[in-house]
Amino acid sequence: MKSIPKLFGTSGIRGKYQEEITLELALDVARALAKYIGGKNKKVVIGRDTRTSGKIIENVMSAGLQQSGCDVLLLGMVPTPVVGYATLKKEADAGIMITASHNPSQYNGIKLWNSDGLAYKQDQERTIEKLVYEKDFNIVKWNEIGKEYNISSFKDKYIDDIVAKSGINPLKPLKVVVDCACGAGSYLSPEALRRAGMNVITLNAQPDGSFPGRRPEPNEANLGELMKTVKALNADVGLAHDGDADRMIAVDENGNLSDFDKLLTIMAKEFGGTVVTTVDASACLDIQMQKIGGNVLRTPVGDVHVAESINKNKGTFGGEPSGTWLHPDFCMCPDGLLSGLRIVRTIQKNGKLSKQLDAIENYPTIRQKVTCENSKKKTVMSIVEEKFEEEFDDVKEILTIDGVRISFEDDSWVLIRPSGTEPYIRITAEGKTQEHLNSIEKISNEFLNNII
Ligand code: MG
Repeated sequence: MKSIPKLFGTSGIRGKYQEEITLELALDVARALAKYIGGKNKKVVIGRDTRTSGKIIENVMSAGLQQSGCDVLLLGMVPTPVVGYATLKKEADAGIMITASHNPSQYNGIKLWNSDGLAYKQDQERTIEKLVYEKDFNIVKWNEIGKEYNISSFKDKYIDDIVAKSGINPLKPLKVVVDCACGAGSYLSPEALRRAGMNVITLNAQPDGSFPGRRPEPNEANLGELMKTVKALNADVGLAHDGDADRMIAVDENGNLSDFDKLLTIMAKEFGGTVVTTVDASACLDIQMQKIGGNVLRTPVGDVHVAESINKNKGTFGGEPSGTWLHPDFCMCPDGLLSGLRIVRTIQKNGKLSKQLDAIENYPTIRQKVTCENSKKKTVMSIVEEKFEEEFDDVKEILTIDGVRISFEDDSWVLIRPSGTEPYIRITAEGKTQEHLNSIEKISNEFLNNII
């Protein structure tokens, strides 16, 4: 059997414009998607972030869909969650978001959505890859070509709906600084906060695909300006998005960037019940959820896995420590704008963000990487799966859904997981005490180095 080249990674197709992401590829993906959903008279929503290559990729994808008999609903420049929500609400057969999320300006990408607002799963992506590879398309006749409609006014409905859903109290205005990275959240995130009655100050809120204000990855290195501004203006909170605004990270009223795991835990506590997160998230979530009678399910890394598990297990909320959060009471697409509104809501309800974060217990943590050639990873990981648990005598649970994660009787845990892109195997561990962490670290390192 011929092997079909992989186009999709952990979050859609992603790469440098003109190298991996060419207009020819975009056209073929659109034709393949059209064939997959049934072609004639099907509807597809398209949105894009602020990247300079976004509009021309949108042009060819729209052409490929219409050429295959589909109608196209154009949102224009919007955050990723607007595509998910519009696909659901407009009863479209699929959604396309043209974005490279937090990657630099020269990158772009394509992410696909189902009619229920859920991202494409791996088996669906494999089908699209096969259609693209075999150029198996259905091109229609001149009198069957689809039409293109502009639905950019849908943004207004989306804003109204997330503000209503957030439960935010407009009579309790807080001072909020929001940093949009000049990405897709630029107009809508400040607009949503204003419509919710908040006193809003913006940073990098002019759409610009060269990202002149800061890099689109919302991490400590890129959020210095936001942290300073929150403190200087005595704001209640700072919010930051990535390039397509499916993520949100908060800065507390003292100008400190939140611990990502603790922020996720604050939100999860608001929902209770069953919450879903990934194998690399901290046990601070489990501890808090146990206290309120809830429980935590874990999935492989990637928001699609979290979404699938929420669906299957009737989860109330889910997210990754990266700030990608899913709000199933609204839509199954990760939503950085709704996440921002809801964090503001917790401050209205529970008081200062720093106090809420301080109240979450957490343990000492290590994150290390051990060099391992890509070609050896598979063999190494099969030995880890078979033998790693034998190194310990207080094992409570072993998860092998993505790497090997062992949790211990006292809630300490360790994860050995190969990097998807780099020649490393990562060790992540959290210990209830520093002594336990030191012993886990020593055992894991020796074990892994011995195999490699
Ligand atoms: Mg993103």
